[in-house]
Amino acid sequence: MAEIVIIGGGLAGSAAAITLAHAGRQVTLLERETQPQHKVCGEFLSQEALQSLQALGIDAAGLGARNITGVRLADARRVKASRLPFQAMSLTRRLLDEALLQEVVRCGVHVSRGTRVLQLKRHGDGWTIHLDSQPSLDVETVFAASGKHDLTGRSRPQGVQRDMVGFKMYFDLDPRQAAELGGYIELLLFRGGYAGLQLVEDGSANLGWIMRKSQLQSLGGYWQNMLAVMKLDCPHLTARLSNATPLLQRPLAVSSIPYGYVRRDAEDGLWSLGDQAAVIPSFTGDGMAIALHSGRLAASMYLAGETAQAYQRRLHAQLSRQVALATLVSRGMVSPAVRGIMAATVRLRPKTMGMIARWTRIPADALL
Ligand SMILES: Cc1cc2nc3c(=O)[nH]c(=O)nc-3n(C[C@H](O)[C@H](O)[C@H](O)COP(=O)(O)OP(=O)(O)OC[C@H]3O[C@@H](n4cnc5c(N)ncnc54)[C@H](O)[C@@H]3O)c2cc1C
Repeated sequence: MAEIVIIGGGLAGSAAAITLAHAGRQVTLLERETQPQHKVCGEFLSQEALQSLQALGIDAAGLGARNITGVRLADARRVKASRLPFQAMSLTRRLLDEALLQEVVRCGVHVSRGTRVLQLKRHGDGWTIHLDSQPSLDVETVFAASGKHDLTGRSRPQGVQRDMVGFKMYFDLDPRQAAELGGYIELLLFRGGYAGLQLVEDGSANLGWIMRKSQLQSLGGYWQNMLAVMKLDCPHLTARLSNATPLLQRPLAVSSIPYGYVRRDAEDGLWSLGDQAAVIPSFTGDGMAIALHSGRLAASMYLAGETAQAYQRRLHAQLSRQVALATLVSRGMVSPAVRGIMAATVRLRPKTMGMIARWTRIPADALL
């Protein structure tokens, strides 16, 4: 029987795998995809994410990540810029996740790519993992790092803000627009949602956005209609996308995101990581940091002989306030009544943006 099986080779699963392998543990990691993939993500790497990556042996700058030093907030009327109160970078997930998985392999972890977990079931003192193409596995300890969606047999509550759909599209921008965007993350407000825009390592622009399901339905589900609404509500985006070419056939999408969810309890031998443990609203750009941190924390506590329950409680204590505040702000950003008040507050008190950015991050003293 394998000692530890990790389900999911994203940021959280890889962070745990590397930490366990460094301590000489025998680990198997199951990843459903055979090849590097694009993921729905704004690809903004916060200071906490960069710190974790460094500890895991990944040099984001060496992979070509771009520095992000400023933030602009744009709504129907104005654009307000300020400096980011911390270091940040941007890097595509296709590149970053693959670099981490390569490091996992280099550390001696058995990585099984193209292996999809169909179901996770309690079996005596351990767990049975049912796979799509191979015999099932019996294991003592499972690290569940499969991202936003539940593994069959292990469902979660839905989260506080649960009516949003997430999208990502890359654009080749007009050179003047790309030059103006360089070094900034831009937060764009529109009816029923918000977007983030920034350049990634190859010079293309990542437009990541979330939109209310009801709004999406009223637009017939067509992404060109969504873009039209976003541009109408945010003239700054219209300027940014003038003469821009979309680089994917259609945006990548993810629905039923349980924003605001933070897991508090665990069953014996089942450690939930990353989005399986906590889902912070996207505007904070700290979801990747949480994924990396939770993977490292879970592995360290496992190695120290602590229980899954103790880990889940500690992570909850570290993150619940930040996630709750971020979710409150995120709900305000998509509410027509509150959005205007928030934008006006930021215009009158530009420091508000920095304060919200600081209060919605993993606390510095929690980081390993
Ligand atoms: C619109 C949007 C924008 C965002 N922008 C940012 C941002 O700018 N900055 C930031 O820090 N965070 C951002 N996030 C959050 C961030 O993307 C996630 O928090 C992060 O990807 C979570 O990492 P993870 O390892 O938990 O899951 P994932 O990265 O989703 O990895 C899960 C892995 O598990 C694999 N898997 C899934 N199911 C199975 C299965 N059944 N069997 C085997 N393998 C499986 C998947 O293929 C995947 O590789 C954003 C999220 C959204 C929705």
